[in-house]
Amino acid sequence: MTAKVRISMKFEQQWGHKLPELCSEVAPTPLRGGRLLYLNRALADELALPDTETLQKSAVWWGGELLAGMRPVAQVYSGHQFGVWAGQLGDGRGLLLGEQQLPTGGSVDWHLKGAGKTPYSRMGDGRAVLRSTLREFLASEAMHGLGIATTRALSIATGEELVQREVAEPGAMLIRVAQSHLRFGHFEHLFHRQQVEVLKKLADYSIETFWPELACESDRYFLWFADIVRRTGTMIGQWQSVGFAHGVMNTDNMSLLGLTLDYGPYAFMDDYQPGLIGNHSDYQGRYAFENQPTVGLWNLNRLAHALSGLLSADKLKLALKEYEPALMAAWGERMRGKLGLYAADSQDNDLLIELFTLMAREKADYTRTFRLLSYAADSDKGGLLRDDFIDRPAFESWFTRYRQRLGKETIDPQTRQTRMLAINPALVLRNYLAQEAISAAEQGDTTVLASLHAALQNPFAQHLDGSALAKPPPEWGKQLVISCSS
Ligand code: AMP
Ligand code: MG
Repeated sequence: MTAKVRISMKFEQQWGHKLPELCSEVAPTPLRGGRLLYLNRALADELALPDTETLQKSAVWWGGELLAGMRPVAQVYSGHQFGVWAGQLGDGRGLLLGEQQLPTGGSVDWHLKGAGKTPYSRMGDGRAVLRSTLREFLASEAMHGLGIATTRALSIATGEELVQREVAEPGAMLIRVAQSHLRFGHFEHLFHRQQVEVLKKLADYSIETFWPELACESDRYFLWFADIVRRTGTMIGQWQSVGFAHGVMNTDNMSLLGLTLDYGPYAFMDDYQPGLIGNHSDYQGRYAFENQPTVGLWNLNRLAHALSGLLSADKLKLALKEYEPALMAAWGERMRGKLGLYAADSQDNDLLIELFTLMAREKADYTRTFRLLSYAADSDKGGLLRDDFIDRPAFESWFTRYRQRLGKETIDPQTRQTRMLAINPALVLRNYLAQEAISAAEQGDTTVLASLHAALQNPFAQHLDGSALAKPPPEWGKQLVISCSS
């Protein structure tokens, strides 16, 4: 495997160089008959990738070639899965190709998912199917479009190779890009193995690389962990505000940097259902939508335990106290914005809870309700939103109180509407939308994927209102069962 493509991109492998204890060098296993299926041009531009045929035709997208400076490694980590210690996990099918050094400063990991077996593959085949690759691609770009911290997706490659799941499916590879793939599970791994020195080295590497402003602070481990706690709380508060259920919040899927990571059987809510379980093999509902805030704290407690050699129990507890305020601030800010409430009022929470109660009773569509509210807020009776509710008197009673509350705001109605439309998306990545893009892509047609991707990049655009993508889901779309196999 040679670096045929000589382009202006610079890659390093700092992780492998500095933390050899936490990875193994592994070459990707190319996908037979591989080809680039879809490139995220907007992200490619952000990363200053040249828009050349040479790069497009490169085999890097499907594991057949390495760009200059890439030195692939599989990372090792451990974790708690569904509340139980699972021991060593690690990248069973993904490789950190290297860190691209950005012309603007800083670096990003390029991670090739579906790249073949690694020492951590256990019983797995090291592969990923097109279906799950496309779901991860769309979800990460949807999250980014919603302004929520996430790993990104640069490319989808596919090939002639079939991968056996419940049935044989087209294999695929994703290039995932992130500031870092550091996971809670990396620290749990070292703690469990009692590799005290390596754990300290990893903490120092993390601070120097991603929290350089803390490097010289005497209390740096505390400040660092408190920030991890806050970032996690903020991310989960934001998930709750858009109706996102991650589905597999195991500690190995928790990013140290507070990025949404490892999209599997996730779901964006259609009907408002607080108990929504995105993952159909989560029989107990551990990762149900409404449990995510509690699970986030449980996961942070596992990380705190792993850091107990660096910080006293008192300091760890003090840092963990930052979780709830961060989550509530992020959630509160988004929910107040969704309602168009900017001045403080002690009754606002009641107003929101009453709306949620009504929505749950009527199975109102989460995204559509708030989008229509953005248009209806300044109408007398509730405009199109009113028509969505069967129990009109209940809706009218709530809407009258809402309008009275809006009367206490000083913002002018036009500005309020603009702001509400900028926080209440016209569409989210509903499971059935992803499924339509998958079915077409499996037949070689990427136009559905391309138009969905374009819409998700700016889900607030007004031209989307009235488009098919912004319509409430068809009944079959609500009942889709998403396979956990990936
Ligand atoms: P996930 O639920 O996708 O986060 O995966 C959990 C663990 O299983 C990770 O260590 C993955 O790398 C590994 N894994 C998942 N699918 C495969 C596969 N097909 N082959 C090898 N390892 C896998
Ligand atoms: Mg994972």
